[in-house]
Amino acid sequence: MNLIPEVLEIEELRLPVILERGKRKTLTLQVTQELQLWIKAPIRMPEREIVRFINQRIFWIYKHAKRMQKDSELRVCRSDKEIYELREKARMVLTGRTEFFAGKLGVTYNKIRIGSQRTRWGSCSSKGTISYNWKLILMPEAVRDYVVVHELCHLLEMNHSPQFWKVVEEIIPNYKEYRRWLKENGSRY
Ligand SMILES: [Zn+2]
Repeated sequence: MNLIPEVLEIEELRLPVILERGKRKTLTLQVTQELQLWIKAPIRMPEREIVRFINQRIFWIYKHAKRMQKDSELRVCRSDKEIYELREKARMVLTGRTEFFAGKLGVTYNKIRIGSQRTRWGSCSSKGTISYNWKLILMPEAVRDYVVVHELCHLLEMNHSPQFWKVVEEIIPNYKEYRRWLKENGSRY
């Protein structure tokens, strides 16, 4: 009797199941980029035990599969035209937000540049030029706003001193959450 499903259905997800048995002592589950559930099991482990293991980790599997799904959406190959359009959208949205927060902070900036620096989401030069990565347009709005406020605050404090963070916090009280989000998720973009 075959207890292990060929396709594991969790909510709206359908994950093809691949069972690989081998000389190993433990059971491991992996959700692959192709959204398959890959099970590596000891040769003689009974199927009901494997099924129990899957059931105990159903939430974990779902969470990982959703994350993989989101990642593959982010990794899509974009045409030059699509990138151009996203950059223009980023320019428009980020300019609007920068003007808004500059007013709140009472600072004036020189100009805005939209770039694609891989490692940074924003920067602010001493001449008041603020640069943003166009990929910010793909991120949650709150995270984007945090980056905007961060860069504008550099017009007041050209460093990351406690005083700098105090000003950021006045505008974005839970900025730490967005900083963490960027650290954890930024590389996926
Ligand atoms: Zn900074």
